[in-house]
Amino acid sequence: MAEHDNETHGTGTRLVGAGRRAAWTGTADHPGAVVNPPVYRASTHLYPDMAALRSAPANVDGNFYYGRRGAPTQWALAEALTALEPGAEGTVLYPSGVAAIMGALLTVLRPGDVLLMTDNAYEPSRAMGRGLLKDFGVETRWFDPLDVAGFEAAICARTKAVLLEAPGSLTMEVCDVPALAAAAKARGVTVVMDNTWASPLGFPALERGADIAIMSLTKHVGGHSDAMMGSASAGPKWQRKLRLRAQGLGNVVSPDDASLMLRGLRTMALRLAQETASALALAQWLEARPEVARVLCPMLPGSPGHDLWARDFHGGCGLFSFVLKGGTSAARDALIDALSLFGIGYSWGGFESLATPVDPAAIRTASAWPLPGMDAADRFGVRLSIGLEDTADLIADLERGLAAWGAAA
Ligand SMILES: *Cc1c(COP(=O)(O)O)cnc(C)c1O
Repeated sequence: MAEHDNETHGTGTRLVGAGRRAAWTGTADHPGAVVNPPVYRASTHLYPDMAALRSAPANVDGNFYYGRRGAPTQWALAEALTALEPGAEGTVLYPSGVAAIMGALLTVLRPGDVLLMTDNAYEPSRAMGRGLLKDFGVETRWFDPLDVAGFEAAICARTKAVLLEAPGSLTMEVCDVPALAAAAKARGVTVVMDNTWASPLGFPALERGADIAIMSLTKHVGGHSDAMMGSASAGPKWQRKLRLRAQGLGNVVSPDDASLMLRGLRTMALRLAQETASALALAQWLEARPEVARVLCPMLPGSPGHDLWARDFHGGCGLFSFVLKGGTSAARDALIDALSLFGIGYSWGGFESLATPVDPAAIRTASAWPLPGMDAADRFGVRLSIGLEDTADLIADLERGLAAWGAAA
């Protein structure tokens, strides 16, 4: 079988072929003998003789060396992710999305540097700024993602990196990534972007100005709520540095988990398309309900950042939030408890739907909640991750939830 041409084919074709090098899916006698790279469970790699050990190959994927540098199962996943990210020279795998974010920040920052972090960043990213980065001499300052001029003004001589996320966690505002990235680059600031929501299928982060594109593979790529992993893809400027820093931190992912991620990757476009369509239908239904003050869903016209989403993104996903009209925290709990098809849990991007409460006021420091234009009483939110259940069933479930909210509010 000829290796797939990832430059010219469409997304579905690229997802099917990416990473399936014949040398990794067969033997020397029969390259490409099986469809998927086998699970290489290997800590020790063996050398045929001393000459081979003495001339150990370069530190790049594709060379057996020692288990911590992976084997074909991990290399195939890294290569597949690189093929999906336009502008990427390589991809480094991490044991979780959080490890990928920290691995990238520890690559681009030094003691004394300032990191600018979007105020709607994933909370564990914020915790890095308050905790580990602070302990190691990096100062984190948070900025309002919708205020490009304020962001430019916040850049100082010590600013070395910015962490973006679009749409942001919980409140889902889409920032102007190209404008923020251009302002950062003009001042020599490295742009790190958490692109978990859209993935490269929906947002080519490097093409839009990011230097390093991060994903929690735990979400869309895995897609089945059974494995955790993260990735960082970058062009030539950062790729090697990311790799060496990840090795210095001792990061390695298991071949079993890499195999699960490769399996998930093959169906990712289908799942995303279905979840996006279902989420949009639910968002429209919620928007028309009297109990709902605001739907925060980038795919929904009128939602905060929808215009930027329509301009810069090729697709969406099943994750969005909505805010109830007044009520109490207990009434919101009653809503979530009344749902039978939505699990209560912190993850998203799986085949099964999930619901969690949204209370950003407690963690934001540089932007307003409720969002500008919203009533102060409208502050109890719910985040939904829409899975592959039938849309009509999910709507009926939400109807039960809103009835429980009405009885409790
Ligand atoms: C879940 C998540 C992460 C972290 O991923 P893990 O694999 O759970 O460590 C990072 N960023 C965003 C936006 C997430 O939702």
